[in-house]
Amino acid sequence: MQGSPLDESLVQQWKLFLEDYYKKDIETIALSYPNNRSLIIDYDKLDKACPNLANNLVSNPSNNLFNAEEAIKDIDTAIGNIELHFRIENLPDICKVNLRDIRVEHVGNLISVDGLVKKRTEILPEPVIGAFKCQKCGAMINEEQTFSEFLQEPSECYENQGGCGRASTFKFIENKSILIDTQRIQIQEHPEGLRGGARPKKITVLLEDDLVDCICPGDRVCINGILNLIQRKKGSHTLKSSMYVIDACNIELKEHSYEEIEVFEEDRKKILELSKDPDIYSKIRNSIAPAIYGLDVEKELLSFQLFGGVPKTTSDRTHIRGDIHVLLIGDPGLAKSQLLHNVFRITPRSILCMGRGSSGAGLTASVVKDDFGDGQWTLDAGVLVLADMGMACIDELDKMRDSDRDAIHPAMEQQEIYISKAGINATLKTRCAVLATANPKLGRFDEYGSIHEQINLPSTLISRFDVILPIIDKPDTDLDSCMANHILSVHCNPNDDNIVPAINPEFLRKYIAYAKQNIKPVLTDEAEREIHNFYVKIRNMSHKSITITPRQLEALIRLSEASAKIRLSDKVSFDDAKRAIFFIDYYLKKVGFDFETGILDYDRIATGRSHSQQERMRIINSIVTRLCSESLDGWTKFDDIMHEAEIKGINESIVEISLERLKKENMVEQRGEKYKVII
Ligand code: ADP
Ligand code: MG
Repeated sequence: MQGSPLDESLVQQWKLFLEDYYKKDIETIALSYPNNRSLIIDYDKLDKACPNLANNLVSNPSNNLFNAEEAIKDIDTAIGNIELHFRIENLPDICKVNLRDIRVEHVGNLISVDGLVKKRTEILPEPVIGAFKCQKCGAMINEEQTFSEFLQEPSECYENQGGCGRASTFKFIENKSILIDTQRIQIQEHPEGLRGGARPKKITVLLEDDLVDCICPGDRVCINGILNLIQRKKGSHTLKSSMYVIDACNIELKEHSYEEIEVFEEDRKKILELSKDPDIYSKIRNSIAPAIYGLDVEKELLSFQLFGGVPKTTSDRTHIRGDIHVLLIGDPGLAKSQLLHNVFRITPRSILCMGRGSSGAGLTASVVKDDFGDGQWTLDAGVLVLADMGMACIDELDKMRDSDRDAIHPAMEQQEIYISKAGINATLKTRCAVLATANPKLGRFDEYGSIHEQINLPSTLISRFDVILPIIDKPDTDLDSCMANHILSVHCNPNDDNIVPAINPEFLRKYIAYAKQNIKPVLTDEAEREIHNFYVKIRNMSHKSITITPRQLEALIRLSEASAKIRLSDKVSFDDAKRAIFFIDYYLKKVGFDFETGILDYDRIATGRSHSQQERMRIINSIVTRLCSESLDGWTKFDDIMHEAEIKGINESIVEISLERLKKENMVEQRGEKYKVII
């Protein structure tokens, strides 16, 4: 901390404390000095040993940090005196501040804030002591650089440094200055601390020297440091208002995902009791979005997703994800978004966004030049990175930006993103489950058509999802009447018992946290056999050249592990396997079953087109070809095509889809109402 006065008695106090308690650490650091150049002090230890000094540190931090660093310089080590950074961890509760509550009164204080790293700039060298050449007499004058974005020139050509004493203009001499590496990061509030829908508050943190490059966007950190102000400029004017910035003196990384959720002894008893409840599956299912009527399979699947499978690392260090990715597609107005919001509220560490992405970073990550980095390159974390170790809830995934389309593949499967651009190299972790919704392209879902043609997403991306559930709107008098009653009652008595979840969300979160922390179920022989048989069976049922992919097999394993986790069981039983098979079967029937031929057509899921669709496209193509050859100008009208298609029993929406597809493949050209084959 530059700019603080040297205080001999304070230096002595720190020296005594450090010699008594940290002599060994300093000696150890000396062995690897200057690669290691930070001494980390535990506040608890300081408080126990010298409560006065501890108090002093909190009430007057910059002064104490500066003098403590001076004290380190005085301590003899095997390699003589060394200069170390004084870093402090485990700050007491009085220093803890929520990002949201930071105010002017905290400026100059030592504070401890928790946050999620959103952005990170390049590493830039900055002068700590600037060397300036006087343009009048040529003397070299040093000026200590205090906390500011701008270079501070000497106010005059200091006589005590051999200068002429006059006010002068100065030239900055970089290679005579003392430089230090700096990096700026932006942290934002933890999403789980936010009340529904609130936008996270953000703050800039300055890192210096050995703190640079030690954290990545997506990391959860606790920053200890001094709150300062930074002036903002607009052109050549300094703005009246400043910006808060934390000058970091220590960073603690928080690794574990569910550590924010404390499970106490009394909770543990209740959790274990609930796990033995024979109705546990339906209880958990009914705790998800109780205001939404029906959709039981969907809700049950989401409850499995909340628990997830078991992540594994093979001996060759391949990462196999445990997270279950779910895609809900279907007609508008069927509570897809509602379900997604509900899951978001239950899941710890979850991030909710629209497919478009709410910030510049989109779904994955980006390297941009923006205001934050002052025109420097900044690495900005997107949704999947911020949701690391949690869940990314993405509404209307089909509206995602083109820039995300490629990067999202490895983010979902390998669960990391490798960024290399403009001198920024980073590997960002995206170990999160993805829950996404998508609307059909043509407004309504056609259950006879392939899902790939109906949603605006690449097949490769669709295949990354373990389970895809189409939600289709079909009028059904009984169901409609029940649903109407339910919705009406929700609107008339929002506090009614019927809409209170079976398990309250608070406790459910603890239950999930407990399962995730403690339960790593393993497949039993019976479960393995059952999954194996089912897999082989469907592979046999599909066409010779067509197969279901091993991805579905992995999905089965993950789902059955989740099923065991719900019961808090270490073993994946036969019944768990059966539950998993139910979902895959349900999903395959819904999306892969070819309603015209009655054959399960898994090719449709894998490649995006079924045989009979290919057949239909061929028919439409031949109709267009024939009509064009019969017409005078070589063009044919939609109505004529439709007329011919109807004779062959092909309905209008399929003709539309097929024509779209033919156009995309450059086989047919459209001009207004008219079509022509391209030969
Ligand atoms: P989507 O995202 O599928 O287009 P929304 O989630 O926005 O649909 O839902 C539209 C509205 O209809 C919401 O207010 C929702 O509560 C209501 N709704 C739809 N289906 C149901 C249902 N099964 N039970 C209760 N409300 C429903
Ligand atoms: Mg919606």
